[in-house]
Amino acid sequence: MYTLNKPEFTLKAVLTSCIDAIEDADLVARLNAVKSKIEANEPLYDREATNGRLDLVPRNTSVGSVTKEEMVALYSDYLSATRGAARAVYDAIRNSAPNKLCPLCSIGSVAHIDHHLPKTKYPDLSILPLNLVPACNFCNDKKKARYPKTAGEQTFHPYYDAHLLTQRWISAKIDRGPPLVLIFSVTPPHFWPTTDQQRVARHFTVCGLGTSYGTNANANLVPLKRRLKKLYEVGGASAVQAHLEEERDCHYDKPNSWQYVSFQALATDSWFVNGGFNEIADSHI
Ligand SMILES: [Zn+2]
Repeated sequence: MYTLNKPEFTLKAVLTSCIDAIEDADLVARLNAVKSKIEANEPLYDREATNGRLDLVPRNTSVGSVTKEEMVALYSDYLSATRGAARAVYDAIRNSAPNKLCPLCSIGSVAHIDHHLPKTKYPDLSILPLNLVPACNFCNDKKKARYPKTAGEQTFHPYYDAHLLTQRWISAKIDRGPPLVLIFSVTPPHFWPTTDQQRVARHFTVCGLGTSYGTNANANLVPLKRRLKKLYEVGGASAVQAHLEEERDCHYDKPNSWQYVSFQALATDSWFVNGGFNEIADSHI
C-alpha cells in the first residue's frame, strides 16, 4: 500500500463534460435538475473520508428522477469508454500510480479504476474523482461490491489514509513445511484505535494480501537459499543474519511491504539463520 495525491479534477467539471456530451435532451434536463445535489457529494465524501467515516456516506438508489442505471452509465459511457468525453480524467487517474504499481497492494500492475465505494451501491458517486482509485486486477476483483457497514470495515484509501502506513501491521512467520513457506498475518500495534486495527485487518482480507504477499515472498526464497548457503559457509549464522537485516533495512520506508515483512521474519528466526534455510525447496515449480 502507498498513498497518492487526490485527483485534481472537480466533480463539477467532470459532470459538466458528461452532460455536454449527452444527446438525450430529456436526460440532460433531468441531470441539470439534480446537478447541485450530485455535486454536494464531493464535500460530503471529502469530509467523511478525512474523518475516517466513509461508512456514514448514504447509499442512494437514484438521484431525483435520474436512475441508478443512468448514473452508472455516466461512468461507463463518458469516463471509461475509450472515446468518452471525460476519458482524459479516467486516464489521468489510472496513470497517477508511479510505475503503474497498484496502491492497494504494491504488488500488481494497475489495470483498472476501482470505485472505492462501489458504484452499484453508491451510483451517485460513480463519477466522483475522489472515489476513483487506480487498482490492479486482483485487488479490483477482490473488492467488487463490498462496502463499509461500520467504520472498522473501511479498506485503505490511498488519498486519505497515510496514517495507516506509519507503523508495521503485517507480520510473517515461517512454516517449516515441507515446503518451507512464509505465512502472512495482520498484527496491528495494540495501542492503535480499535477502528484502525479493524480497518487494516479488513483491507488485508478484502484485497487478499495473504495470498499475494505469500506468492511473491515464497517465490523469492529459492534464490535467497543459494545466497544464504554461500554466506553461511564463509561467516556462519551471523553473516546470514546480517544479510537478512540488510535486505530488510533497504525497505525501511515501507514497513508493510512483503519485502520488509519477509526479511524481518527470516532475520529474527534463530532456527532459520542457523541453517534452517537449507529446508527451502530447491524449486517451487
Ligand atoms: Zn492491487
